[in-house]
Amino acid sequence: MSETASNRTAGLPSFDLSDEQQEMLDLADRYSRNELYPLAERMDNEEWWPDDAFPKLGEMGFFGISVPEEYGGVGMDVFTSGLIVQAIARWNHALSLSWIAHENLCLNNIYRNANEDLRRRYLPGLCSGEKVGALGLTEPGAGSDALGSMRATAKRDGDHYVLNGSKLFITNGPIADVLLVYAKTDKDRGAKGISAFIVEKDFPGFEVAQKLTKMGFRGSQTADLGP
Ligand SMILES: Cc1cc2nc3c(=O)[nH]c(=O)nc-3n(C[C@H](O)[C@H](O)[C@H](O)COP(=O)(O)OP(=O)(O)OC[C@H]3O[C@@H](n4cnc5c(N)ncnc54)[C@H](O)[C@@H]3O)c2cc1C
Repeated sequence: MSETASNRTAGLPSFDLSDEQQEMLDLADRYSRNELYPLAERMDNEEWWPDDAFPKLGEMGFFGISVPEEYGGVGMDVFTSGLIVQAIARWNHALSLSWIAHENLCLNNIYRNANEDLRRRYLPGLCSGEKVGALGLTEPGAGSDALGSMRATAKRDGDHYVLNGSKLFITNGPIADVLLVYAKTDKDRGAKGISAFIVEKDFPGFEVAQKLTKMGFRGSQTADLGP
């Protein structure tokens, strides 16, 4: 009997991966070694972004890991998504950072917190990798204390909100189609008066202020957003 099996029999916790999790890790590792590692040098040298990388990852089933199949996801769990990013990071660390911003900060966040209409509208495109996701929380002067020092505001105007403010260091910012952006709706409530808004790159007034040049993770695209 293996150690894991005997642990299970004795009612002790097992820290081994399930067969399904191990298969996903091996598949993601093989794919990343063959398909993503060859892109890494050019991404680092030129800050180049391979436009077809995300759609191919989506085709392989490496997005929407914790999202049910009815929204275009894989129907597994967040732990497994951690295994996939581990595999990607072994072979192309810049791509793994972009993967996290898309998969966890944006996609999984929308799945967990958005209403049904928004889930159905945004998750399929993010799960297939056709749309790139990002999350905008950090601001100039609001990094470690992002919630307390946030200056971006959102004001209701009829049936929609008008957002005002800037965001800083946003992973996938220059290439994102769907951005989850945090803004204060009620200044008097401090960190509790903040909401998240989905901003599409073509919404009126949205702009990428500049693409940033970095010392590391150079292939992962980073931007300042707003005026
Ligand atoms: C490559 C990259 C990608 C990023 N991607 C995203 C993204 O996708 N979305 C997003 O919203 N943000 C993103 N960020 C922003 C990131 O979350 C912030 O950089 C981080 O929160 C720290 O904020 P800051 O850079 O303003 O540093 P600061 O808050 O200015 O901190 C600078 C230093 O001071 C220290 N410090 C701060 N406050 C205190 C204190 N009270 N006491 C003692 N020490 C303190 C910190 O530990 C740190 O060492 C990204 C950043 C990088 C570098």
